[in-house]
Amino acid sequence: MKALRTFSILILTLLGSGAVHAQTVDSVDVVDYDIALDLSGGNTLRGHADVTMKLLRPCPTVGLELLHTVDSIKMDGVAVPAGTTLAALPTAGRQTGEAFHVEVWYHGGSMVESYGFGGMHLDNTLSYNLGVGFNTDPHVYGRSLFPCRDNLTDKASYTLRIATKTGWTAECSGMRQSVETDTAGCEHSVWRIAQPVPTYLVGVSQSSWSRVEDTIHSLYGDYPLTVGYRTGRESNVRQAFAQLDSVVPRYEQCFGPYRWNRIGYIATPEGSMEHVNNIALAQSFIASTTERAQTTIAHELGHAWFGNLITCSEGEDMWINEGGASFCSEVAMEAALGRETSDDYYQRWLESVLRTTHITDGTYRALHGVPHQYTYGSTTYDKGWMVWHSLRGYLGEERFYSALNRLMASCAFGNIDAYGVRDSLSLYTGVDLTAFFDFHVFGPGFVDYHVEMATPEEGCLENEVEVHIRQQGVGTTNVMQQNRVPLTFYARPGFDSTSCKRVAVFDGEETRQVFSLPFVPAFCVLDADCEFSDAATIGSEDLMGDGASYNLPTAHMRLKTANGGHFVVEHHYAKPLGDMPGGVKRTTGRYWIVRGDWQPDSNDQAWFRFARTNGNGTYDGLDRGFLHQRPSADSLALMYRRDSRQGWHAVSFTHDGDQNNGYMTLRGLLPGEYTLAIVDRENLGIARPEYTEVQLFPNPLQPGQPLTVEVASEEAFEVTIFDLGGRQVWHQTGCRSGQKLSPALAKGTYFVRIENNFISLQSKLIQL
Ligand SMILES: [Zn+2]
Repeated sequence: MKALRTFSILILTLLGSGAVHAQTVDSVDVVDYDIALDLSGGNTLRGHADVTMKLLRPCPTVGLELLHTVDSIKMDGVAVPAGTTLAALPTAGRQTGEAFHVEVWYHGGSMVESYGFGGMHLDNTLSYNLGVGFNTDPHVYGRSLFPCRDNLTDKASYTLRIATKTGWTAECSGMRQSVETDTAGCEHSVWRIAQPVPTYLVGVSQSSWSRVEDTIHSLYGDYPLTVGYRTGRESNVRQAFAQLDSVVPRYEQCFGPYRWNRIGYIATPEGSMEHVNNIALAQSFIASTTERAQTTIAHELGHAWFGNLITCSEGEDMWINEGGASFCSEVAMEAALGRETSDDYYQRWLESVLRTTHITDGTYRALHGVPHQYTYGSTTYDKGWMVWHSLRGYLGEERFYSALNRLMASCAFGNIDAYGVRDSLSLYTGVDLTAFFDFHVFGPGFVDYHVEMATPEEGCLENEVEVHIRQQGVGTTNVMQQNRVPLTFYARPGFDSTSCKRVAVFDGEETRQVFSLPFVPAFCVLDADCEFSDAATIGSEDLMGDGASYNLPTAHMRLKTANGGHFVVEHHYAKPLGDMPGGVKRTTGRYWIVRGDWQPDSNDQAWFRFARTNGNGTYDGLDRGFLHQRPSADSLALMYRRDSRQGWHAVSFTHDGDQNNGYMTLRGLLPGEYTLAIVDRENLGIARPEYTEVQLFPNPLQPGQPLTVEVASEEAFEVTIFDLGGRQVWHQTGCRSGQKLSPALAKGTYFVRIENNFISLQSKLIQL
């Protein structure tokens, strides 16, 4: 299910309620519904329902729920005593396990919840229902259509007998058994849902439908496809559903057979909703190939497994349904457009989840046990998706999909909760998922991993590298155990293999591990293949030194380089590690790690994005709680450290954009960590940030000649010289502008880095 409108409206209008309907689940089981709906009046409905049910335990009365007007009730063909209501039907004389019939005659009209989404919509162009209400309790909303036990767990078969308005046709859940038109031009059709489904998955509709028909050829069978639409061109509708040719076989490969015989969609003004065989899709998506339309079409079809085949036992585990279906959108995109595109899609959503979900849902929430008013919030949909995605990364694709096939088969047409998912997947994979679920499903927040390559120790082989990983919680004080952190090592240029992957497995808050690699690594990146929803997103680009600036939106950064090179930027939604110098009042809740392989140049430029809480909406929430005073009082600084062995210090920057949204522009980008701070400039000793140039004389440098560094800085600075391999060859502290230095270099090309609390600059030097 997906609403077109934003959830903030929902949250404002909802009152919290923890009501559960446990007693209705336990006392009785509905086996079958036979429902006749006369919709020929257009704006009215007349109904007759024959509900076959069984007592599961002795109880004096059983109830059915219905929001329309009841005309009469019979039990096993006998009229109930006067005064009997649908909510309390006497069961005297009926044995546990024995089937009995309740017949209800009723009438009504439109029955739509206060949110405007769920319920029965009857108007002059279209009649349709949506089986879930945002503002209703319970959210399942079958009672807006027929008398029922309205919950997630009572699954039954259905026969639907629909009489339409003159000239209209019906599109419904189930397989159409028969259709005929009477002399008045009303269509009479019978539909059968043979598979057991809960009440909210039954969809009926009537309109002057145009129909696109096709067949989807898949792994376990051929499935008829019908799309009912009222506006738009047939060719565009066909194009919108063309992705299903690759998506359905991929879904079957990942999750097992499609068990619903046919695939159907109808276009509805409010949408979207995953009724079995009759998905209600928002009208604007029915003939559209936009990303939003395509991912919604895929999401709703994904419910054929997540939600419709295996249904969460309680609304508190709605992430199984909705997070699973949103994960399906990513799987579909991979099938239709390739992994690079789906990885990018995932990264953009992960960025959004890290930035906004705890704001829209009030706080960082655990997936399991979300309160009623947040059942359909971003935690359920988006973080739920991230966690299914992470389970795939954690278990490995083959093992994960194989286990999902088994889960879908063993729990088919049943219900499951978070514990059941954990235990099933653990059983089918042989991997104990207790720690994973404790952190990601039963606990709130995210884990951030800070990864650093250590300088090789003496005695270490050249291709052995030590990696130091520290985790910190974001929105949680929990510590993730049984960590599996994917690391990608990149070789220096000239090696045959350019990268290789290792997984660091460890318990606790930090680890040091030595990895043996086929090459000497230049740098190491956390989760370069986007396998895992930790608190970092990645922006990666092979840049040309062509003067163009490149945007890395998922890393909130832009880059322009003089020489080009390979850049990977990790953007962490977590506090920067390490102590800040005096004068720093606070830092923002995020930091960057710039990694890569390039020849630094003082003309390189990097733009670091910042956004005030009430920004222009594009990146709302980015620096929430950080920039809260007027710019004159909030003095922004850009902080840098090469790694944990060096302290944080302020670096020069210029300002791009306005005071609310923009970039802090740095010249002379160096690898290392960056973050934003609010500083007391007098205490920090920075008069004002300004662009500073470094000049080396002479350059090229003749053998035996001294080197002079000129910088517009009154303060002393450090000079460090590196060879092209990034190895430090010379270092001197306490240098002053104009001072003569004697580095005694061998012939070659070098980088000279000049750093103090105000500047961090680099320039190329040639030694003849
Ligand atoms: Zn959904």
